[in-house]
Amino acid sequence: MIIQLNQDISISQKEALMDKVNRMGYKVTEVKTQVGDYLIGIGKSAFDIRKIGVLDGIQDIHIVSDEYKLVSKKWKVKPTRIDLGEGIGIEDGDMAIITGPCSIESEEQIAKVIAHMKENQITMMRGGVFKPRSSPYAFRGLGMDGLKLWYQQAKAAGIKIVTEVMQVSQIEEMHDYVDVFQVGARNTQNFNLLDELGKVDKAVMIKRGISGTIEELLQSAEYVFSGGNEKLILCERGIRTYEKASRNTLDLNAVPILKSKSHLPVIVDPSHGIGIREFVPQMALAGVMAGADGIIYESHENPDKAYSDGQQTLNFDQSALLADQIRRTFALRKTFDLL
Ligand code: PEP
Ligand code: MN
Repeated sequence: MIIQLNQDISISQKEALMDKVNRMGYKVTEVKTQVGDYLIGIGKSAFDIRKIGVLDGIQDIHIVSDEYKLVSKKWKVKPTRIDLGEGIGIEDGDMAIITGPCSIESEEQIAKVIAHMKENQITMMRGGVFKPRSSPYAFRGLGMDGLKLWYQQAKAAGIKIVTEVMQVSQIEEMHDYVDVFQVGARNTQNFNLLDELGKVDKAVMIKRGISGTIEELLQSAEYVFSGGNEKLILCERGIRTYEKASRNTLDLNAVPILKSKSHLPVIVDPSHGIGIREFVPQMALAGVMAGADGIIYESHENPDKAYSDGQQTLNFDQSALLADQIRRTFALRKTFDLL
């Protein structure tokens, strides 16, 4: 159960309410986000919600049977818009395009990517400065120096920064230079990190875990939301299956399922999803048709020279073509009456 509280509820009203819900056999947790104040009741006993709904200090009450609550569509039917400022955002009914290299490599590389993005009206840039690599000997990112160089150029160009945070201790130093904190697939269930991101006033994009279920992704999002931060984006990036012909198996089933279960925007990462450069466009467009609110893909001036993930990275010509195809496919999707 989710009880939305009025902003002006008094402490005694809140205590009386919590006591009443407790006595009905529900464990109650109070959640205060940057947007609202909620009581989450976990329990099974049946009751007449009108008995609570009439109490003072309550805005609304909802029965949500899902394991996750606040990210569920059962209480918030209207899709959530993630506002990144300057008219840039991610939302249902629009198509976000996020591109950039796997890793931020140099000042010069950043300038080239930004020029490419400007030419193609792309306003959100991805790139890693802290890289989770399977091998400790691989390039592990430029760290904060790289992020600061990136920020200077992105800010001047009106471009938003999407980048991965790998651990709690990085959040504070990264905070002022980031528009969207990315939680990587290897960290989807790092609950300490998720808790801390709940305290941040920046958007958070959570990637699906390498072996994570759809429900686990939603539970991870619930951590951040219940920690206080409602600005969440879900990202399908492929899961590990028995299939070896592709890097991962991009689970496009997840897109309509997530959209039907949650009010949060869903984006698709075909680069990590299939891991093969020449097939990234097909999977990106399939993601658009599956109902994604955005596509995130890797691009680089010279992918064969990229420090990481070159095999799945598009060059700028391929990226320009794909951005156009994404927009055209989205326009086509809008003409269909799909859920
Ligand atoms: C990335 O986006 O470069 C990345 C490392 O992604 P993932 O966490 O999905 O592997
Ligand atoms: Mn990558």
